[in-house]
Amino acid sequence: MSEKKFDLAILGGGPGGYTAAIRASQLGMSVGLIEKGYMGGTCLNVGCIPSKALIHSVSVYLEAKGAKSIGVKAADITADWSAIQKYRNRCVVKLRKGTESLMQKNNIDVINGHGVLKDDTTFDVDGTVIKSKNIILATGSRTKSLPSLPIDGKKLISSTHALSLDELPQRMLIVGAGAIGCEFAYIMSGVGVDVTMVEFLDHALPMDDEEISIEYEGLLKRRKIKIHTRASVESVDTTGDGVTAHVKPRDGGDEFTIETDIVLVSVGRGPCLKRCGYEDYDIPIERGFIQVDEYCHTGVGNIYAVGDVTGGLMLAHKASAEGIMVAEKIAGMDVSPINYNNIPRATYSKPEVGSVGLNEREARDQYGDTVKTSKFPFAASGKAVVEGKATGFAKLIAIGDEKKLVGAHVVGPSATELIATA
Ligand code: FAD
Repeated sequence: MSEKKFDLAILGGGPGGYTAAIRASQLGMSVGLIEKGYMGGTCLNVGCIPSKALIHSVSVYLEAKGAKSIGVKAADITADWSAIQKYRNRCVVKLRKGTESLMQKNNIDVINGHGVLKDDTTFDVDGTVIKSKNIILATGSRTKSLPSLPIDGKKLISSTHALSLDELPQRMLIVGAGAIGCEFAYIMSGVGVDVTMVEFLDHALPMDDEEISIEYEGLLKRRKIKIHTRASVESVDTTGDGVTAHVKPRDGGDEFTIETDIVLVSVGRGPCLKRCGYEDYDIPIERGFIQVDEYCHTGVGNIYAVGDVTGGLMLAHKASAEGIMVAEKIAGMDVSPINYNNIPRATYSKPEVGSVGLNEREARDQYGDTVKTSKFPFAASGKAVVEGKATGFAKLIAIGDEKKLVGAHVVGPSATELIATA
């Protein structure tokens, strides 16, 4: 049985794990990174990158189709789904190779295999013993399902399946109108799929500021996407050619059915803990997620955990920020805990949504009558008007006479970049 020794061993090569590895190596540590799949994790392989590649293709297609309104005429504009898929794959492979070469450049020892935590300084990776003074658990997340919606990869699919569909269905039902569901609604409707969405909460993008969600929902409808909010899919019948979904209104009223060809189950993501050895070694876990303190320490030995496996905002830049902070903390640097209120959230479709800090309801719950809001419509922005993108608005939420900014929300063109200003 072979053995390797490191200053830092990391389980999981997603944005949390590989960013921590690079920072630790820069700070002089010997680093081992254990990954059972592809380098780059969910984000690079089946998450942010492939979804944004599809969104980019669809956006260019829709812009080209609409260009005659600004005096640019082109004939025969088509969306070639198999070529779009090849483009998506090229983006993923290129960036994955880039990440792999970063590992090499930074002398990070990548150990391919399934890692299991054995004690607070040891992993077993398919028979190889990895010993390390410090450990970071960064095993990420996976698609969640519901008992009434068992994913079979054919008629009931996850986002991972949806990213690489060989053929487009005529109709798609998307269950769950969070960021991932809405991004797929944009992609699919953009290439001509008849999209219907069902969301249990009050609006699409239910975690966003309510005014933003309402505006966004209206813009979805303008794209001819049908959306049933305050409703749940109770069961599906897949025995015929297509799928019949039985839908129940949340607040009473008649149940109804939706006929579709394929169902995308987009009801959130859960942590990857199975067969990692965490439970056997008393890593604190609550409601499925690893519990950590403000420095991402688990309270057990020198074991830290970062990224989706710790819950909170399940976003790539949150995972990377935690990875860097932990690497610096282990190196003995004087680090400050992450201010989670200042982590921006983004939905990449047209329009985009970007937000940071509190929404209006949260602000009013915390600060009562001292809350002030202001809105600026893109219809009043010269740049948005000349670019033909004058829908949506930016909304700022401030408190007190000094108008301290506590939240910013943008729905409209380039919202995911504009939000950095706030
Ligand atoms: P992951 O990226 O999940 O990486 C964990 C890694 O650990 C995986 O590679 C896995 O194989 C490995 N692993 C797990 N267990 C073991 C084991 N026992 N042994 C060895 N290896 C193991 N976020 C954004 O910020 N912006 C976006 O636009 C965005 N879009 C998304 C779109 C989709 C469709 C999806 C699904 C997600 C999206 N996300 C986005 C979320 C983002 O992908 C995650 O927040 C991010 O990947 C979390 O990083 P992580 O390092 O915590 O975990």
